[in-house]
Amino acid sequence: MTFIEQWLRSDIKNIDAYHVPVSKDMIKLDAMESPFGVPEDLKVEFLKCIEQSEVNRYPEADPSLLKDTLRSLMDIPDEFGILLGNGSDELIQLLALACSKDDLIMSFEPSFVMYELVSKYVNLEYFGVQLDSNFDINLSDALSTIEREKPKIIFIAYPNNPTGNCFDYDAIIEIIKSTNSMVILDEAYYAYSDKSFLSEISNFPNLLVLRTISKIGFAGLRLGLLIGDQETIAQLNKLRLPYNINALTQTSANFLLQDKQRIINNAQIIIEERRRLAHELSLFSKFKVYPSQTNFILVHSEDAYPLHTALKENGILIKGFPKDSKLSDFIRISVSEPVENNILIDAIRNYYGS
Ligand SMILES: *Cc1c(COP(=O)(O)O)cnc(C)c1O
Repeated sequence: MTFIEQWLRSDIKNIDAYHVPVSKDMIKLDAMESPFGVPEDLKVEFLKCIEQSEVNRYPEADPSLLKDTLRSLMDIPDEFGILLGNGSDELIQLLALACSKDDLIMSFEPSFVMYELVSKYVNLEYFGVQLDSNFDINLSDALSTIEREKPKIIFIAYPNNPTGNCFDYDAIIEIIKSTNSMVILDEAYYAYSDKSFLSEISNFPNLLVLRTISKIGFAGLRLGLLIGDQETIAQLNKLRLPYNINALTQTSANFLLQDKQRIINNAQIIIEERRRLAHELSLFSKFKVYPSQTNFILVHSEDAYPLHTALKENGILIKGFPKDSKLSDFIRISVSEPVENNILIDAIRNYYGS
């Protein structure tokens, strides 16, 4: 046995490292990134901002300017508190850190994998309640699981990743009302969805909303936010590492997120492309295309695995799922700008010889 093998917590040995595929020079349709980079007309001014940032100094510890920028971008009422994270992943971890050692974290399956992974990292129990055949919440299953397992935290991705749908709103309200658990509505895709729980925060002390700028054009900045009642946010803020939002992220986000109208317009382009791409995909007889409130589309096909491989060989990266998972016959495609979406459609036509 090597030193690390005998030293390491035994459950960590059994965790598979989070896998990120190599994507250099590929058309990247696997990770829900935005195709829109820094706009040409802003580049000079953007560089000036970067140039002026003092990287020899620690960044502002509690960046109120950045919070104001996010408030205005996402229409977050002043009465709610905001906790910033190095990506929303860090905030999922922070919430898990607030748990005691015998606590359990609950979510739904299939959903965002980080809820379970983070639970494992911090050595907490995790329970995933299966979604029904339409990928919606089975409310009686959820309520009985909550009653039995008494989760400390319930993560609900809204809309859900990787399925793309919003669960039934009233079912979620029932869940929030039924429990003393902290319920986290993860709205990573809020910009592509017409529904949100933001305004419900004032109605329920056990509701927090999680958001990120990753899916609206700024994945590289690593910035997420947890929104909730001021007192709740102030208590959770004690668990945040000082200076978790680095100086270049603060400078960049403060500058780039001012451009609210363009960010909204870009989301609108993606929503329109989502409609078009979903239609194009539905024309392939081997595909079942699922409705989406996000910037990706879930597709069922018995050809999922070979198609994923064939596209990769053609320089297009989409998301496939492990062969042993319930999603092995699915692919998840990020919606991009028209040129890339057309390349994808052509490649699929080629694959089917049509
Ligand atoms: C992409 C995604 C995140 C991760 O966001 P980061 O801010 O990039 O860490 C969180 N939740 C869901 C549901 C996601 O799909």
